[in-house]
Amino acid sequence: MLPFKLVYHDHYDLNLGPHVFPSQKFRLIYEMLLREGLATEKDFLRPDAASDEDILRVHTREWVQKLKTGKLTASDVMKLEVPYSPELVEAVWLAAGGTILAAQGALRDGFGLNLTGGFHHAHPGHGEGFCAIHDVAVAIRKLQADGAVKKAIVVDTDVHHGNGTAAIFRNDPTVFTLSIHQENNYPAYKPPSSVDLNMDDRAEDEEYLGALIPAVKQALDEFQPNILFYVGGADPYCEDQLGGLSLTKEGLKWRDSSVFKEGRRRGIPVATTLAGGYAYQVEDTVRIHVNTILAARDVALAFPSASAARN
Ligand SMILES: [Zn+2]
Repeated sequence: MLPFKLVYHDHYDLNLGPHVFPSQKFRLIYEMLLREGLATEKDFLRPDAASDEDILRVHTREWVQKLKTGKLTASDVMKLEVPYSPELVEAVWLAAGGTILAAQGALRDGFGLNLTGGFHHAHPGHGEGFCAIHDVAVAIRKLQADGAVKKAIVVDTDVHHGNGTAAIFRNDPTVFTLSIHQENNYPAYKPPSSVDLNMDDRAEDEEYLGALIPAVKQALDEFQPNILFYVGGADPYCEDQLGGLSLTKEGLKWRDSSVFKEGRRRGIPVATTLAGGYAYQVEDTVRIHVNTILAARDVALAFPSASAARN
């Protein structure tokens, strides 16, 4: 039994058919966890879809209506880069509900992980780059509205810049945004995050971790957030089709556990979402995401409480 809850729904699949985004990966992660005995059914929570009230704290009424009625323009679909379907809409509303649930789990148990989400390119009034609804922003606004947290940090390690996150929270002193990404990659225009770590093409484990870990430490010490949202992209992997960095699986696991440890040491709950992953072999993407869950488990077990972790 895991020392925290995983959040999963069998309608997380974005229904993309043959597409570079392997939307079956959510189910494959769930199945690998059960098959390898890493989790049991009791470790999972099943989310409800986020309410429209929750979604509308971040997104415009117009964009929400377009998604719900299927009235996207050709330009909307081109920016979104995935085909529209009612299943897609259900999946992203569930993803937002799932990230809310994972964040509430993190506040209770120290960690909470949603087996989807991290749709960090979504903007208030449009979708982009496979991302229709910004689940992490929805969860942050929900926790703030409930009075559960005041300040949140987003640590985004997807290989692509978190442009939606940066745009949404640009003038908000209650949310600190940190993005580490490949500079020469999508999106072309990168609105400034609180901290942007722009990596050169083909950067390897050592260079990447050498930039990320000190920046995370400094941000946590200075900003002192009440919760950390970890956007744990699998696409900095060296064999990713849409990424141009050269991290190994071991390096990625080290990345995850390092961020988790820094949160844990300071008693900051960590809510994790998956984000991108487009390895030539989908099994590699699935393994990298499963390793993120194992990294959280290992840190939670090694440091059973925040006070113990300080020693
Ligand atoms: Zn990505």
